[in-house]
Amino acid sequence: MQEVKKPSRRPLICYYLAALLILMLLNMTFFPAVLEKPVQDVTYDQFMSMTYDKNVGQVEIEGDEITFTDKAAENIYRTTVTDDPGRTDRLFESGAQFQEIDTQPGLLTSILVGWVLPLLPFLLIGYFLNRRMKKAMGGDGMMFGMGGGSGAKVYVPSSTGIRFADVAGEDEAKELLSEIVDFLHDPEKYRQIGAKLPKGALLVGPPGTGKTLLAKAVAGEANVPFFSIAGSEFVEMFVGRGAAKVRDLFKQANEKAPCIVFIDEIDTIGKKRDGQIGGNDEREQTLNQLLTEMDGFDGSKGVVVLAATNRPDSLDPALLRPGRFDRRIPVELPDLQGRIEILKVHAKKIRLAEDVNFEPIAKTAAGASGAELANIVNEAALRAVRSGRQFATQEDLQESVEVVIAGYQKKSRVLSDQEKKIVAYHETGHALVAALQSHSAPVQKITIIPRTSGALGYTLQVDEGDHFLMSREELLNKIATYTGGRAAEELVFHSVTTGASNDIEQATKLARAMISRFGMSEEFGFVAFETVSNQYLGGDASLACSPETQARMDQKVTELVSQQYRRAVELLRANEGKLHQLAGYLYEHETITGEEFMEILSQSSPELDPLAEQPET
Ligand code: ADP
Ligand code: MG
Ligand code: ZN
Repeated sequence: MQEVKKPSRRPLICYYLAALLILMLLNMTFFPAVLEKPVQDVTYDQFMSMTYDKNVGQVEIEGDEITFTDKAAENIYRTTVTDDPGRTDRLFESGAQFQEIDTQPGLLTSILVGWVLPLLPFLLIGYFLNRRMKKAMGGDGMMFGMGGGSGAKVYVPSSTGIRFADVAGEDEAKELLSEIVDFLHDPEKYRQIGAKLPKGALLVGPPGTGKTLLAKAVAGEANVPFFSIAGSEFVEMFVGRGAAKVRDLFKQANEKAPCIVFIDEIDTIGKKRDGQIGGNDEREQTLNQLLTEMDGFDGSKGVVVLAATNRPDSLDPALLRPGRFDRRIPVELPDLQGRIEILKVHAKKIRLAEDVNFEPIAKTAAGASGAELANIVNEAALRAVRSGRQFATQEDLQESVEVVIAGYQKKSRVLSDQEKKIVAYHETGHALVAALQSHSAPVQKITIIPRTSGALGYTLQVDEGDHFLMSREELLNKIATYTGGRAAEELVFHSVTTGASNDIEQATKLARAMISRFGMSEEFGFVAFETVSNQYLGGDASLACSPETQARMDQKVTELVSQQYRRAVELLRANEGKLHQLAGYLYEHETITGEEFMEILSQSSPELDPLAEQPET
């Protein structure tokens, strides 16, 4: 340990030596001049008259210079000698003392002013530097020692208190991880048969699906020390510390084995090394060190490295090869059953009405992550408090799903009557087109109450089951549904509004994906022109084709969308009576549920509704 300590302290010692050197130089040159008592130059006659006035205290004659003080020895004067034979006698008579005059400050003052005071700021700076360095190395008092030098927090077993039971759904992930837990409990069992467990497992999935939670649960279940560190913690403050931190971390882990090392957001250090000029050297060194350490440690001792990321495609391939993170555990967005279970887990923390049914809530919240579902439950509890109830109801949950999806109701925003009409027709247009196409999922709810997200209204579509494959027809129907809002506006009001911008975006995206990724156009066929780079983070697609192809593709996308738009217009025109009827209902009630909608739709004779008479006002 001593060897570690000394070289690391060196920078600080250098710092103090430099400070001393600077002080010495200052003391030799600058301070004496400043500290010296001021000497006034006077003329010889002034000296003579002071002598006559008996106002001379001490006198020192040196060469052709006379230095003297006044009687009170307050000021020091200097004059040049002229030929004056009676001078000494006169001075003696005046009572002056012949002695050396010290223009230098006293020893104590000079030490104080010359050394101690200037040293103080240096010491202060040194102290702060020292502290920052300590912090950077994550030491807590034990500088650079073993005590948490890597900045990894050593969790006391089960202090996280999180067990597998707290993680709902994600059964595959839990199954894969429980093998690791079992291994940590009883490594001998595996050693006997000669089985080697993976040294590392990589949890990949979209944000908020419970990756961090799962890792903590593994620690809670396995009852072994749990080192948790975020990837970003490796790369900070002092260049070159990242690699040392990795070394430290694994050293600690080896001592504490069996244990778990968890590196969250590993993409921060695990990005592909691209060898570009100006690349991040620090990060690459850290990564190299990590690779070396993962090769170096003996897996049979019981050190398991878990890591989490939502950007697996950006990870360095070397990190993923067998012997390192060879087990990849997908943590996907929960399916319907998973969503129900997650809702239940979080609902345990709040007070609920007894008759709450989670299934419709989970259905509405299609595509929500675990974090969002947790948020939904909490929103419901908050809403119950706001309305002064003792427990949350089904309605609270339903409303909070919409809050999480679309934002809060914006009660203050008042739509003009005409705007409200347009929104009613727009949303009905979406829903009607969806319902008229046999393949489209039925609507669950439409509202035209403005939301804080900016939506003036929206249609909640609910898939009955989970969809994994979508046919070409379904996709086309979806595009038609997106265009349905605008189609209704045009059909009824013969003008269009800005309200459809989001629909247009979605429709275009889908149409482009059909052509460039799904191979669903006759002209381009079975060729991928786009690659998705961030599948878990929004899925940005990058185009890879010639400009000519791109131009043709744009044309094709335009054609495809406008074709569906025309289809939507035709569908609505053929059912114009229903459109007026439904929009009228929506306009009046501001909300329409799926059942109400289907009921009106299936009624054979449309009643006259108030809006149909004068749709163009
Ligand atoms: P990430 O995958 O981004 O690391 P987290 O593990 O941090 O997500 O999850 C955030 C929060 O979401 C958790 O604290 C938990 O409350 C909730 N959560 C996410 N997934 C689940 C799940 N499967 N079961 C229960 N809660 C979950
Ligand atoms: Mg996380
Ligand atoms: Zn719309």
